[in-house]
Amino acid sequence: MSSPSARFSALALLAIVAPATIVAILGYVSIRQWEASSELLYREQARDMAAMAAEKVEMTLRRAEDAFLDRVQAALRSDSPPQRAVDDLLAGSPLIRRLYLIGSRGELLYPREWRDGDRAVFGPLVSEVVLRRLAREGKREVTANNQVCLALLTKRGGEPVVAAFVRDTDTLRREILETTLGALESSTIIAVLDPEGRTVYSRAPIGDAQRLLSVGFRDGLPDWRLAMYQMPGASPRQAVRRQVMLFTGALGVLVAVIVAGIVMTWRLMRRETEMARLKSDFVANVSHDLKTPLSVIRMFGETLEMGRVTDEGRRQEYYRVITREGERLSRLIDNVLDFSRIEGGRQTYDMTPTPIEPLIRSTLEAFAYPLSQHGFKVEVSLAPDLADVTMDADAVGQALANLIDNAIKYSADDRALTIDARVADGRLVITVSDRGLGIAPEEHAKIFEKFYRVGRSDTQGRRGSGVGLALVRHIAEAHGGDVTVESAPGEGSRFALRLPLGGA
Ligand code: ADP
Repeated sequence: MSSPSARFSALALLAIVAPATIVAILGYVSIRQWEASSELLYREQARDMAAMAAEKVEMTLRRAEDAFLDRVQAALRSDSPPQRAVDDLLAGSPLIRRLYLIGSRGELLYPREWRDGDRAVFGPLVSEVVLRRLAREGKREVTANNQVCLALLTKRGGEPVVAAFVRDTDTLRREILETTLGALESSTIIAVLDPEGRTVYSRAPIGDAQRLLSVGFRDGLPDWRLAMYQMPGASPRQAVRRQVMLFTGALGVLVAVIVAGIVMTWRLMRRETEMARLKSDFVANVSHDLKTPLSVIRMFGETLEMGRVTDEGRRQEYYRVITREGERLSRLIDNVLDFSRIEGGRQTYDMTPTPIEPLIRSTLEAFAYPLSQHGFKVEVSLAPDLADVTMDADAVGQALANLIDNAIKYSADDRALTIDARVADGRLVITVSDRGLGIAPEEHAKIFEKFYRVGRSDTQGRRGSGVGLALVRHIAEAHGGDVTVESAPGEGSRFALRLPLGGA
């Protein structure tokens, strides 16, 4: 890893990972505390709520029973025996299922006789002791085991009477529990359990809800309990967990966004640095490419001018060198100028139907001298009846020249150049093949990028600016075609230029 990127990684680690870890640890600790305290608070609130609800139930029940007993008392005072009036009162009070009025000597005042088995239950409850206790402790009592209520009333003349009654559980549920508890605002399920633990009333089906707590009623409903249930997943701990997950998710997304941003910036930076390097290489390469042919031309020109070359053959040779270097210079300048026009978006193409064979032959002609000088075996294979193709002949000629120039430049011991033109899949395909150095597969995409030159020691000695193939690709695409390469190191290269037959 290079030192700037190592520095960058260390910075990224410090800038993101360290703060994110600290936030995560702090978040975890405070969430644990939050979890514990919210659970505690929730339980306290639930307990308060349960106590309040139990008290409310008892109050409502007592009020209903007191109202009934007041009316019985009034009947006792006015009538004797109070049969009919009490019958009517009972009929109008569904909460009281059965009622017995018993005198201080144990005589039954209402109804006329005991119903099946009731004497055994109610009779023993009324005694001298009970009467005294009732007189002393507020006149009401509920016997715990069987829910029989006792109350102290008086007959006309002040003689004590005990009213013993049993509540109707259905009415109790409907008129007392449902009206009192049904109206309470709470996220929990409130239920009332009888002494055997059976659910007498619940605000919603309990199902697999979890019992949170239960509180007892006081003297109104001894041994009954009011319980609070919690829906699965509704505990404060779980609510906090959900918050935690949300928080962690958000933190994760944030970190991911920051990391993505940093990675993108880093890649952009690397690209820019690479581009700057390529541009400076380009300037150096172009200057070198301009200088070399110029000095050759000058040297040969001066030699000829001095008239020192007497041999006609050698003179002709010098002229050819000057012409060849001149052509090379023009090609280079054309490439650079076209490239700058393309970069500036100013390049225009003049599309005309063009015969293919003359275009290929004339382009090849310009390379006749270097080809023969290096001993190239040239093969041109053109499909016989190639029709004219609409194109910018100069541009396509220049693209072809760049491909041929590369085939010569990057040649190895086996010097061969093959140009092939034919129509395939409705397109004109011109291929330029050589048996030169070849190109590694991972470089195939990159060589068409501007300024890119393969940085191998065996190609570095060869002159070039890195814009040749970029230009070829641009010209191909401007015509609605493309350019591809098949090549492997040591096995030569085969560039295929494809152009639509009717032009772009
Ligand atoms: P240059 O001016 O360097 O030739 P090009 O854009 O024409 O620029 O080519 C880019 C790179 O592709 C060259 O530097 C060279 O490494 C590689 N390349 C192009 N053509 C050939 C070829 N025929 N054989 C081997 N390598 C080639």
